[in-house]
Amino acid sequence: MKIERISVFRVELPLTHPYRLSGGRLRFERLDSTFVRIDTDNGFVGWGEGCPWGSTYLPAFPGGLRAAIAELAPTVIGLDPRRTDVVDAAMDLALPGHLYAKSALDQACWDVFGKSVGLPVYELLGGGTDEQVTIQSSIGQDTPEAMVADIRRRHEQGYRVHSPKIGSDVDDDVARVEAIAEGLPAGDSVTFDANRAMLPDQAIRLMRRTDDVDAYFEQPCQTYDECLQVRRATTQPIILDEIVVDYADVLRAQRDRACEAIGLKIERVGGLTKARRIRDFCVQSGIRMNIEATGGSVLADSVAVQLAQATPSRAQRATWLCHEMLAVDPCEGGARNLGGHTRAPDRPGLGVEPRLEVLGEPVATYRRR
Ligand code: MG
Repeated sequence: MKIERISVFRVELPLTHPYRLSGGRLRFERLDSTFVRIDTDNGFVGWGEGCPWGSTYLPAFPGGLRAAIAELAPTVIGLDPRRTDVVDAAMDLALPGHLYAKSALDQACWDVFGKSVGLPVYELLGGGTDEQVTIQSSIGQDTPEAMVADIRRRHEQGYRVHSPKIGSDVDDDVARVEAIAEGLPAGDSVTFDANRAMLPDQAIRLMRRTDDVDAYFEQPCQTYDECLQVRRATTQPIILDEIVVDYADVLRAQRDRACEAIGLKIERVGGLTKARRIRDFCVQSGIRMNIEATGGSVLADSVAVQLAQATPSRAQRATWLCHEMLAVDPCEGGARNLGGHTRAPDRPGLGVEPRLEVLGEPVATYRRR
């Protein structure tokens, strides 16, 4: 089996509500997503998605993703998509870095692999567990009252894990943490996510002033060294997210005891092939994971849930369904909210079918010469 054609689609994803993160510095109203379709010489079709949450969130942007796919396409075309490690290595040789672009191609290869053997992708990633995957809500930064109200709404929808965004003034953040701890429905769990917005002194003061609150704190600062400084001066569990990009980052974090959990975002680390290696290391070394998408439609969410479905639940905290924040739904099937939890679809491949009438014409097509 060989990859014959790669088609790239640009998909506009408006959010139902404007969203703020990283101390309110970043505001989003719509996402620019890229769907990648691969066609094989024997008639299989695979899909992948890349959506880096605009251009301001990560060192990644939608135009760069599509440009990198143009660069990678001649290397990938002609390869057997079922040989996911071979495709991964070939992409790394052809273009160092640009993991978020490689991810979309890698996902499409796993989709074909699953379809070609009639199995869901999670069965190829170690085998599905019977457990359901917990979903966490994402609560944009706002006043303490508004954030508590949002968490209560999410609780009504079945969410039991919440990720409110913090990272402005320390006094304001203390008020948020205390109000949310006070208003949190019984049995629910919370992660205060700063998305890199704080300096070490701010994070240390915030966490020390709220150290009686049973909560996780996520990615307090911009750099690894700053987060490590916070880790060494505080006691609550810390999750590293944006700065975990490759395997070496997780090795270093484990060596330094820099965190208790990581955000394993499939697109950021380069796709399922690379995420699986990190997943295995974390399972063995007791690092809990949020296995999730960087953003995008139910296609990107389902890719993450496929890996989560094949990962012991004790090694996970929660996934996130970005597609619930969107005003459009460009796909059929996929991992949906079943009341605060989800499951990977029991269909061959990723179990998601993009609706071609929504996608429109491809913005680029690459063929075998
Ligand atoms: Mg995060």
